[in-house]
Amino acid sequence: MQFKFQIGTKVLFGKGCVKASKLEFSKYGKRAFLVTGKNSGKESGALIDVISVLEQEGIEYIIHDKIENNPSLENVYTGGKEAREFNADFIVGIGGGSPLDASKAVAVLAVNDIDPIELYKNTFENKPLPVLAIPTTAGTGSEVTPYSILTRNDMQTKMSFGNEDTFPVVAFMDASYSESMPNEVTVNTAVDAFSHAVEGYLSRRSTAASDIFALEAIKVFGSCINNLIENRYDFEIREKLLYTAMYGGMTIAHTGTTIVHGLGYSLTYFKGLPHGKANGLLMKEYFKFNYETAKNKIENILKILKLNNIDEFGNIMDKLMKYDLKLKKEEIKQFAALAMKQRSSSYNIRSVTEEDLEGILRCSIKYGEHN
Ligand code: NAP
Ligand code: FE
Repeated sequence: MQFKFQIGTKVLFGKGCVKASKLEFSKYGKRAFLVTGKNSGKESGALIDVISVLEQEGIEYIIHDKIENNPSLENVYTGGKEAREFNADFIVGIGGGSPLDASKAVAVLAVNDIDPIELYKNTFENKPLPVLAIPTTAGTGSEVTPYSILTRNDMQTKMSFGNEDTFPVVAFMDASYSESMPNEVTVNTAVDAFSHAVEGYLSRRSTAASDIFALEAIKVFGSCINNLIENRYDFEIREKLLYTAMYGGMTIAHTGTTIVHGLGYSLTYFKGLPHGKANGLLMKEYFKFNYETAKNKIENILKILKLNNIDEFGNIMDKLMKYDLKLKKEEIKQFAALAMKQRSSSYNIRSVTEEDLEGILRCSIKYGEHN
């Protein structure tokens, strides 16, 4: 057995964890730059809690609430410049994966006056500012990963950067901040968390240690499936979903994602599908594609989910993922070619070709000439 294991993030999990941990803010300095989206910070209640802590601790702050969904290089550039001009000591990211990923880029750009394309060099002259991460969705696990996934309009795709210094230093995980999520966002983000666990478990880079996180996330996700189908959420379920997301994140922090994410990026970039939904609608065919190569592990996932076969899994995904999408033949080719360029495609347990990816897309999504 050989593996490297590291989680660079201190996790504070539980209701009220922000207000109960004032020193976790003040120890990082006197000037905080808050990175959030248009609504998530306010609607979740997280922003007001952070402001109250910062004011009690005498920490100056600026709120940058301009992070778009699936943030682009252009979008994080603006945040980075503002943080640099403010002379921030640390960053507080509040929101779903979009603001949290953006906050990592802002943390680098705040102390490195570089073109955002240089984020992909993954080495920076000055160490990024510390990021304190507060998730308001329960999906990406970005609060415990080093990854920042940004939209690259120059390449018509999404691409991640990140290194050991871009792990958030603290993750404040309070499920009450996820209670305001619309039902659809709840389902999509939960499926994203599940796809992290599954793709990590079936990755070539999976280890004995990462599998523990993956299996725990799959088990807890499984216990929430009926609630997700029926949109029934109480605080206990919200906590379970947040916990699933955290372990999904800890899994991919070690393994990375694979072809589901690689293909899903095009469905988001070109077709506007939310990230988790894009992943979810590909998963049944992903299991079928990998079945012979990873039979034991896939059977184990089905067993944990109390399902007899991949088709039963597909039925569940159909109940969770409503979408109306058709792709043209040329789009299928284009999306497969783009996914092949993602490093993550090489981590898939079974070697993939562009034709394989076309096949997965074709079987996952009805295709026609009209869309
Ligand atoms: P998101 O794009 O952050 O948020 C989706 C929508 O939900 C936004 O409109 C957001 O509002 C809203 N929202 C979030 N929390 C809310 C709350 N508590 N109450 C009301 N509305 C709320 O969605 P996400 O799925 O969490 O993140 C997706 C991004 O994360 C993608 O860019 C994806 O590539 C990335 N990702 C990163 C990792 C990683 O390891 N770093 C892994 C997987 C995915 P606002 O517009 O106000 O924000
Ligand atoms: Fe994801």
